[in-house]
Amino acid sequence: MSKLICSFEGIDGSHSSLVLKSFCDQMNLAFEPLGVPTLRHVATSVLTQKSHIGLLPIDNAITGTIRDGYDLLTQYNLVPFTEIQWKMDHRLLAVDGAALSGIREVYAHPLVIGECGQFLGTLTGAKIIPCEDTGFAAKEVAESKDPTKAAIAPPTVCQLYGLVELAKSIADHPENFTRFILFHAPTPSEAVANLRKDVESSGQKTSLVMSTANDAGALYKCLQVFNESKINLTKLESRPKLGKSWEYLFYVDFEGNSEDEKVKKALQSLEEHTSFLQVVGSYENCPLQKLAEKKPAKKTTQPREENWSAEMLPNSSKNWPKVSRAVSPKGSKIVVNNVTIGADDFIVIAGPCSVESKEQVLDTAKWIKENGAVMLRGGAFKPRTHPYSFQGMGWEGVQILSEAGRTTGLPVVSEVMSVDQVEKMAREVDVLQVGARNMQNFDLLRAIGKTQRAVLLKRGMSASIDELLCAAEYILSEGNPNVMLCERGIRTFETATRNTLDLSAVPVLRERTHLPIIVDPSHAIGVRRWIRPLCRAAKAVGAHGIIIEVHPDPEKALSDKDQALTFDDFVQIMNDLEKIPAINHY
Ligand code: PEP
Ligand code: MN
Repeated sequence: MSKLICSFEGIDGSHSSLVLKSFCDQMNLAFEPLGVPTLRHVATSVLTQKSHIGLLPIDNAITGTIRDGYDLLTQYNLVPFTEIQWKMDHRLLAVDGAALSGIREVYAHPLVIGECGQFLGTLTGAKIIPCEDTGFAAKEVAESKDPTKAAIAPPTVCQLYGLVELAKSIADHPENFTRFILFHAPTPSEAVANLRKDVESSGQKTSLVMSTANDAGALYKCLQVFNESKINLTKLESRPKLGKSWEYLFYVDFEGNSEDEKVKKALQSLEEHTSFLQVVGSYENCPLQKLAEKKPAKKTTQPREENWSAEMLPNSSKNWPKVSRAVSPKGSKIVVNNVTIGADDFIVIAGPCSVESKEQVLDTAKWIKENGAVMLRGGAFKPRTHPYSFQGMGWEGVQILSEAGRTTGLPVVSEVMSVDQVEKMAREVDVLQVGARNMQNFDLLRAIGKTQRAVLLKRGMSASIDELLCAAEYILSEGNPNVMLCERGIRTFETATRNTLDLSAVPVLRERTHLPIIVDPSHAIGVRRWIRPLCRAAKAVGAHGIIIEVHPDPEKALSDKDQALTFDDFVQIMNDLEKIPAINHY
């Protein structure tokens, strides 16, 4: 790979594609654009090394903070390095011969719809149809050849797709700019490091996300820190905190670099007045013209593989370059609805081995939720050793699980057994479980890798740690970085327990990979009364969470009844876990 691959949201003609082209042209940079369907894909394609750099919008002059932009950068520890301010020139485009009065459907990106509310309000009788991106909107209209359809897109797109303009500058205000951020992975390749040097200028900005304590004057005290440090705030916007009604996150930008002494001190004082503080990063804020004036003399576009010199990587991690800790030294976090895995909180996933009835799942879900679990597990497709054992309720079971998930607000984890189930399962559940018996079903791993659903990848019962990492690498190599690994016991000569819980795998994995690690004591030890101490051990050894099996009436369980915990057992385990601090180092 000799060119720098840059990922952006959309197809040719999207605002992101135009920003990227303009940036690379002005920097005289050989680049290969990689259009992907969503902002999340932009972030994950950089993290999984499908591209070297990515472009995300973070802010718009009319509609404000683009939450996804900030959140994806922080979730995946991506490193912003330059801001590009881009004039959003929105026009109404249609096929030749169309008239404004005849328009019945308008296609546009949802963010763009928000920026053109006033104009769209005047188009009575026209349906406003949100679509993937601006390029797609224009292409759709052009290909339809239908004069009743129009798209909102910039004028440059007219030529690209053969459209004509029906209305000019339709944004709510003509001074409509979006701030885009160019970013790279936590460990940049040499080519990216060189590009960083080329964009360096004197203007530096830092972005952070924080929430204040719910005390009188808390925000005032935070602002006072900036005032006393003589740091110029360039943005302060509050947005509701997801999952916490009427609590707010503040999105803050200011002048300066987080490595400056003055800024470092200010951030330390800020910690005292905030209940949450995350620095997104520091970056250049030179406008495109300024970049052009710099006209960098030399461009190096080294293949990204150069990044993976053997010395940099522990042991054999060059075999799994995408899951190696070197890719994201701080460790990656996986966000599943309102749950973050891999952050400070130790998480508990619980539920029955198999979905057996609506009542069984709902009763269990309510109980575990009330007592502190954050996710519901349950198998609808069961990999059973004996062909005549209960094989699970199939899609009916999946429906029961998602209903229980919706009722309780718990995200749902369920096993997917074959490639043909992947697409439907990815729509129905929040986390796709790959069972121990399927850890090396490579077609299944690749199919899951093509989705963006979170994955719980269980270690095969006779798989080595490196083989588990290779299996994860399959999923990441297809572009899905949202993988958590699960140690669930391996086969040894020991017969007193169902399997042997390999707790040694936890520190080894924490060193070798950035992916979060979950421990499953239920399948490891297989005996109800021995599960509780292993849950404590899992937290103490540094796992990010556990997954355990709970049943309203274990004796009646249709699978794994010997290891099913009662509701009371579950409460005792939760009480035990509270006494053990979460370990955030290894
Ligand atoms: C399960 O979680 O119910 C299961 C079948 O686990 P494993 O694949 O680890 O045996
Ligand atoms: Mn089970």
